[in-house]
Amino acid sequence: MMSFFHKNRIRPLLIGFLAGMLALGLLTAPVVTQAAANADPAERYAQAKEYSQKLSAGATPAHERRDWLAAIRKFREIYSADRSHQLAPSCLFMMARLYREMYGRFNNSMDLSESIAYYEDIVSLYPKNSLGDDALLAIADIYLLERQNPEKSSRYLHRLLRIYPDGDMVAAAGAILKKLPPESRPVTPVLLTNIKKSSIKPEPVDSKVTAQGASLKPLRYWSNDNYTRVVIETTTPVKYRENLLKKTANKPRRLYLDLENCRIAPELQAPIPIHDGLLMQVRSGQHSPDTTRVVLDTQSLSDYKIFSLQDPFRIVIDLKGQPKDPAAPSSSDQAIPLRASAKIAVNDSDFGKANLPPTLARQLGLGIKRIVLDPGHGGKDSGACGKNGLMEKDIVLKVALQLARKLEEQLGCEVIMTRDRDIFVPLEERTAIANSKEADLFISIHVNAAPTSKARGVETYILDLARNKNAMELAARENSTSTSRISDLQNILLDLIQNSKKSESIKLAEYVQDNMVNGLLPRYPIRNLGVKQAPFIVLVGAQMPAILTEIAFISNPTEARWLQSDDYIGRVADQLVGGISNYVNELNLASL
Ligand SMILES: [Zn+2]
Repeated sequence: MMSFFHKNRIRPLLIGFLAGMLALGLLTAPVVTQAAANADPAERYAQAKEYSQKLSAGATPAHERRDWLAAIRKFREIYSADRSHQLAPSCLFMMARLYREMYGRFNNSMDLSESIAYYEDIVSLYPKNSLGDDALLAIADIYLLERQNPEKSSRYLHRLLRIYPDGDMVAAAGAILKKLPPESRPVTPVLLTNIKKSSIKPEPVDSKVTAQGASLKPLRYWSNDNYTRVVIETTTPVKYRENLLKKTANKPRRLYLDLENCRIAPELQAPIPIHDGLLMQVRSGQHSPDTTRVVLDTQSLSDYKIFSLQDPFRIVIDLKGQPKDPAAPSSSDQAIPLRASAKIAVNDSDFGKANLPPTLARQLGLGIKRIVLDPGHGGKDSGACGKNGLMEKDIVLKVALQLARKLEEQLGCEVIMTRDRDIFVPLEERTAIANSKEADLFISIHVNAAPTSKARGVETYILDLARNKNAMELAARENSTSTSRISDLQNILLDLIQNSKKSESIKLAEYVQDNMVNGLLPRYPIRNLGVKQAPFIVLVGAQMPAILTEIAFISNPTEARWLQSDDYIGRVADQLVGGISNYVNELNLASL
């Protein structure tokens, strides 16, 4: 059964940038001078906008209070006529702005209250609109400049950073917060006693570190009783220290991370209960005025790995539990498995399979029961782009959907997609899905691109250090980062690759690559670029054989044309099925 993985996904609020831009774009739409009460809202909006601009510029002869109120009325009428119209939040925004300007001219404090109220309405009625963070910034500005209330201003700025961490007002809010006196920064009461501004600030880890420090975003995690991935994301890069505490009489083994120069909003401090047998809970708190501490209370930890990724900065913690007792029921059958009798297996993921009699193993396809398919990119990340709006994200989704159906039909295995729609899924989440679902294979599907249109062909990758410039550049592109970041990644990979199923991945990659090339020829004169290696984040930490395949070059005119044909897409899916099934067959033969 094909399924899409939703569980435990904590998706940061996405902001409708485009909707907002569109709305703002209409502010400068051509002006229709003839007023018409029943005209289309966009037209009426443009007229109201022109009227208020003239007032602001003082162009109308009588800019009396009633003229300003008339401008506000125009926006209110458009708003009241259809509150679900895309311009409705823009109308509220204009009313708020006009009241603010009126306060400046007529010095009536009621106008300021009106302005704040309309800005508030945007956030509460249209929380996903891109004007939300503009509204909060405007309120913060009013409290700071007009009401001389830095505390309140600070509260709105923190609210902005919390609700719209990815918004375009983050830098501005940070800059204002920096200017505010420290007292106005909300601090957990218990900490107020030991605020001693340290004169030695932690060294910035890179140029992106801003002076006002970072703040923690909501934690994300994926978990089963043997594996958990926790992702800690901060607004800007931070330095961190890790520490593993021994089990004591009344406390479990704890792993904690201290994030320097980092703050946590009070509402993010509630412990996240997990209770999967491996992790009890994750707690985070403001350990000191400058340090946020994230504590993982474990139940059966055997190993863990921590690494950080950039753009955006996040710390990924992979935890492994004690190897499973094959006799014990699976995690879905019991909430907290008994660990006392668990034996230590040399290689935990092969444990259990080896105990099956060969015939049974064969029937089960030696454990290739579940395959995770990962169509690259999606949502705001379109991947490589070609001419005529051709986008990698669309092509690979088509391939993956066909491949999923064919794998289910032909191999009878379960297929899980990291995405089955045009949505953005972070790279580390894709691997986490495969690991937490205990997939037997992980296949990431991509389309290649190169600076030269001459580059063409099919290539399949496994995770390892890049050996040449091209592989480095491809990894940079697929990781949405720079080649200099890839060098950093190479260093952390040295440690992580040892745990990967490298020889199995190479075998799988070779079967897939051979089958692709042989199956596409002679109809498609494809060039065989072979099996290669590069540090793809999406493969980092995968606990099963994992490959990334590049099915053609979007930057090559001939291959771009192929990528647009259903025939090529269908054949690629067929050849992927063939490659995977050849790999499975070899495993089965080896087990006889
Ligand atoms: Zn890609």
